[in-house]
Amino acid sequence: MNIYDYTLKDLEEYFLSIGEKKFKALQVYDWLYQKRKTNFDEFSNLKKELITRLKEEFTLNDITIIKHEEDKDVSKFLFELADGEKIEAVLMNHNYGKSICISSEVGCNMGCKFCESGRLKKRRELKPHEMVLQILLIESVLNVKITSVVIMGIGEPFDNYDNIIKFISIINEAHGLAIGSRHITVSTCGLVPKIKEFADFNLQVNLAISLHAPNDVIRNQIMPISRRYNLEELFEAIDYYIKKTNRRVTIEYVMLKGINDSPQNALELANLLKGRLVYVNLILYNETSNIGYKRTLKKDVDKFYEVLSTNGINVTVRREYGSKISAACGQLRSKYEK
Ligand code: SAH
Repeated sequence: MNIYDYTLKDLEEYFLSIGEKKFKALQVYDWLYQKRKTNFDEFSNLKKELITRLKEEFTLNDITIIKHEEDKDVSKFLFELADGEKIEAVLMNHNYGKSICISSEVGCNMGCKFCESGRLKKRRELKPHEMVLQILLIESVLNVKITSVVIMGIGEPFDNYDNIIKFISIINEAHGLAIGSRHITVSTCGLVPKIKEFADFNLQVNLAISLHAPNDVIRNQIMPISRRYNLEELFEAIDYYIKKTNRRVTIEYVMLKGINDSPQNALELANLLKGRLVYVNLILYNETSNIGYKRTLKKDVDKFYEVLSTNGINVTVRREYGSKISAACGQLRSKYEK
């Protein structure tokens, strides 16, 4: 087992199970997440025998950064995992702090037509430690403190649900990285049963839904998940989530030229969302050489925005990061593979 897979509670249970005091878990958390030691021999307040035992039973850092590109407000990292698989993460500088966009799976099975990441089918899920370490390694390489985490990199987080929940509780732990739940965002293409499960869990984490279409006809064309759960089912789950958590949901809408970006589409979207506790985040499409979709013209984005806004929908246009350094959406990895 990797020790970064353990919540504080898991670790307490582990120590109790081997006849040690529970507070050892806090000491270990302190070495891992405050002092950032990556070698058990340095855990100097533990007995020699215990250190030996930990060394036998746990691994520590088993992922490495193999590529690092930097632009003005963004850094992009390619990681190699213990089994040789590759994933990527992006660090963004905002005026309010630093956020990281992490991957949740190696590849993705959702098959959204416009998405570069999904061209590689899911090879496996990421374990909690492989997500935690994306944060720890970047913090250590750049000597920065990351203040918010978005699970919007490669993969569908709700297709790796249990590991995501564990990951969230590890980074949220006050004695660990202490990243506040309101600074954590999970983005899903809409796995309805998991949205409901997540609602019941009632964490104060942000939920973002990749909607990308105002009706089932368009959504069926670009997102295969839409054939499994139509908009009616999806919104029933979203409404349930809002009712349970009383939290505002982000609706992500990637604008694809000639597909979903007309003023009529905007009006239909406004009607769909009216009266719901949501806001829309319009995303400018990152064109990739492998896929034919085009980015919506600036004037059409403005028009779309206008229609939503005059119809009483809260809307923002997502700031763009890193299209120059192929930071966008699975492109670094796919470039590397060539
Ligand atoms: N599977 C999750 C999270 C990963 S994708 C989800 O679907 O939400 C993160 C976001 O990036 C999604 O909204 C996705 O639709 C969007 N996206 C994918 N490819 C893109 C591209 N080339 N340009 C802009 N956004 C893209």
